[in-house]
Amino acid sequence: MPAFICITCGSQFSPSEKQPGRCPICDEDRQYVPPSGQSWTTLQDLARRHCNSFREHEASLIGIGTVPAFAIGQRALLLKTDKGNVLWDCLSLLDEATIAIVRALGGLIGIAISHPHYYASMVEWAHAFDAPIHLHASDQQWVMRSDPAIKFWDGDTLPLARGVTLIRCGGHFAGGTVLHWAEGGEGRGALLSGDIVQVLPNRNFVSFMRSYPNFFPLSAPAVERIGALLAPYAFDVIYGAWFDRIVPRDGKAIVKRSIARYVAAIQGDGSAELN
Ligand SMILES: [Zn+2]
Ligand SMILES: [Zn+2]
Repeated sequence: MPAFICITCGSQFSPSEKQPGRCPICDEDRQYVPPSGQSWTTLQDLARRHCNSFREHEASLIGIGTVPAFAIGQRALLLKTDKGNVLWDCLSLLDEATIAIVRALGGLIGIAISHPHYYASMVEWAHAFDAPIHLHASDQQWVMRSDPAIKFWDGDTLPLARGVTLIRCGGHFAGGTVLHWAEGGEGRGALLSGDIVQVLPNRNFVSFMRSYPNFFPLSAPAVERIGALLAPYAFDVIYGAWFDRIVPRDGKAIVKRSIARYVAAIQGDGSAELN
């Protein structure tokens, strides 16, 4: 039986004879169903028209992204730790070449995903590399393909290896998670941020939204809470959700001033927009 993949968000569903009727992730106010309607593909179809590309961002960190872009178009990150490789975020496409390359790099000891928009074909990846998937329990309802490989975690932090910590920031999703890599950024610390701390095109600011495609903001307390949760961690580089969304330096200060800017704007009285 095929495991259908939603073309808009890239989530793979449990195997079924027929295409699922709808995608709950796209049918919700953070995503959208395009005017052409809900449509589906499969891993086999996807592999006919797409492949994965690899880019080393720094020693021990390799980006993996699908070309041409598919669904939301995020790239995943393979992080080499003292215990083995962790895959941060995930892709809908897992083909034979990707399996061979990741195996040659040592396989995976775990998969951690920032939020449901990047769950993608996580179960395929988990099976191929015999690796557990670490998801925050608050987002359990958004898993479209249940599997014993999925391990839900609770609370604010989960250490995966030495200096590699998942931090549940919430915000965009209740279980929205970032990964802190103490030795990343060539020793200055790095944050792998998915859509939870969104790196902007100018790379001088980050931002925070409940919905990016529908331009729906978060509240000031939700954004301040993200700041408070990140406060104990040192980082200079921020790896966002796409190959080119990287803050190369001053990441900690940029998050701080971005939170201040965001909160001032959302709590403003409208006068700033008239000047
Ligand atoms: Zn979808
Ligand atoms: Zn998202």
